[in-house]
Amino acid sequence: MSDSQQPSDFEPVDVFAETDGMDLRPGSDDCYKCSTCDTNCPVAEVDDDFPGPKFQGPEQWRLKRKDDYDIDDSITDCSNCLRCDTSCPSEVPLSQMHNTARSQYVDNQMSKLSVEYIRNRILSNYRTSAYLASLFPRTATFVMNFGPVRWVMEKGLGIPSERDFPEFATTTFRQWWKQRGGAQVQNPDKRVAYFHGCYSNYNTPEVAKALVHVYEELGYEIMVPEQKCSGTPMFANGMLSDARRHAETNVENLTAAIEDGADIIASCTSCSLALRQEYPELFDIDGIEDVSNHTYDALEYLRIYEDLEAELEGAEVDFPDLAYHAPCHSRNQGLDGQALELIENIDGVMAEDVGDSCSGISGTYGWKTEHYDVSMEIGEEMFEHMEHAEGDVGMTECPTCAMQMEHGTGYEIKHPLEVLEAALVSEE
Ligand code: SF4
Ligand code: SF4
Repeated sequence: MSDSQQPSDFEPVDVFAETDGMDLRPGSDDCYKCSTCDTNCPVAEVDDDFPGPKFQGPEQWRLKRKDDYDIDDSITDCSNCLRCDTSCPSEVPLSQMHNTARSQYVDNQMSKLSVEYIRNRILSNYRTSAYLASLFPRTATFVMNFGPVRWVMEKGLGIPSERDFPEFATTTFRQWWKQRGGAQVQNPDKRVAYFHGCYSNYNTPEVAKALVHVYEELGYEIMVPEQKCSGTPMFANGMLSDARRHAETNVENLTAAIEDGADIIASCTSCSLALRQEYPELFDIDGIEDVSNHTYDALEYLRIYEDLEAELEGAEVDFPDLAYHAPCHSRNQGLDGQALELIENIDGVMAEDVGDSCSGISGTYGWKTEHYDVSMEIGEEMFEHMEHAEGDVGMTECPTCAMQMEHGTGYEIKHPLEVLEAALVSEE
């Protein structure tokens, strides 16, 4: 971003506490056992067997001072929603503790031949499955939702047959980007590198295209670096070695983009959270702090550097009323109010907040038979609020929250960037 650009009044909230290195045992001393994290944990609220974040974090790390302490297997029941992280008044690095403990549990205590390990490895490496599916997208969508196949997946792998597999795009975002000849705007003073993540590439390229159209309309030059998975599903499944391999590629390519004058933007709030917070918490890779400091959510970035109110003045869209859910990972970045504040400025569209509950799916968590019922029970509050809201179309920034919203209500789900595209960009 050039010095000539003036930030707007919007200030992002700095939610990331400084942490000292990778030894988390001292962090457990900052816990004064207030139990605020436990009362904010959506899993503990509905699952009486889950001991909660205070136990998963500081208490386990206190016990680990004795070298012989094994990690409790309930660590695999934490959904990695990070609500506890946001709520702790003492800045205990809870999610860092959970992610590290989960990884130690998987590495040292989980059988690599168990169905659970194999299933979790498949779920957390979604990028590989999605790449293979994208070679035959229509067939893959059909087969993955074919009753007998789903029965086998449920009985053999523990993937619940109640859920519908998302459709695979016939043209991925990266294919579309290549076909159109890449960036259509050249502007070294307003350059961004887009971290699209796996889902926008393989399943919802319309979200990624909306981002491209909006940013180009506002004069940005967009780079689309080579990238791998952000690592979010791998953190949640204790697969930190896999996540590190992906992070190394991402950090190398995103650092090169930063050197070319770009900031990094993401359309998925879990991807931006991974690059900003989880990477520097979990890995020590050259350039990782730079990547963390230059990463923004795509809407947040526009709210900082553009006068969106002026851009949207006079814009009118014919969009259905929207029931909006703020993902937990947007809350963790202090971004949960931004989509509604933005949409307030657009004539012709209404969006209603459906409350601050968790959607319950938390990435791969709700894709496991042992967690499906808990996932749906957590989501119940959101489903009810969606049904009471005026609109019968949902909106969220998180692709798995979108899956859960659709699953619980049958609504079509939009991304705020698609609303912004309708307001700012004339049809091609
Ligand atoms: S909220 Fe923080 S200080 Fe309170 S019990 Fe949880 S970890 Fe400890
Ligand atoms: S990350 Fe979410 S599910 Fe896990 S302990 Fe914290 S609040 Fe509970």
